[in-house]
Amino acid sequence: MSADRFLSALKKEGLKVVEVGSWRTHNRNHKGPWGPVHGVMLHHTVTSGTAASVRICRDGYTGLPGPLCHGVIDKAGTVHLVGYGRANHAGLGDDDVLRAVIAERTLPQDNEANTDGNARFYGFECINLGDGHDPWPAAQLEAIEKAAAAVCRVHGWNHMSVIGHLEWQPGKIDPRGFTMWGMRARIGDRLGTR
Ligand SMILES: [Zn+2]
Repeated sequence: MSADRFLSALKKEGLKVVEVGSWRTHNRNHKGPWGPVHGVMLHHTVTSGTAASVRICRDGYTGLPGPLCHGVIDKAGTVHLVGYGRANHAGLGDDDVLRAVIAERTLPQDNEANTDGNARFYGFECINLGDGHDPWPAAQLEAIEKAAAAVCRVHGWNHMSVIGHLEWQPGKIDPRGFTMWGMRARIGDRLGTR
């Protein structure tokens, strides 16, 4: 979908959206493919503070240039758009998982890192330290549900098209603090696909 469609889909789902700089054209398309996309991936930032987190997700850091996702979801539930197109969020993951996402069936264990996820997934970074103690406010969880559902709605996907980074790439633990099966259930209820 176009950047404009992405923006309007998020707003239509009832989300508060902040557009950061030239997010529509901020991407890594010069480094590799973008699309066809097959799903939505959720992450936690391991950062705190909205301004600092949004800046890191837009600009990246030494060794990992931004954008690091498409939207940053803050603790109040606002979505900050930092990029559109290929973004450095998913890394290499498991081709068996990608096949399951495409088929919208139960995911196998991720035990390979052989497939470029940055071409295949929309990415939302959710502000949380990921230490198991930093809380996930209800407004933030609701925004995660809405953002993922908005993308699925445009593509005609169901809730099984939404995965966590930890389900994609061996060794990853994000998002930590809520379960992906629980979040998929919420998204499925919202979409009416469960
Ligand atoms: Zn991640």
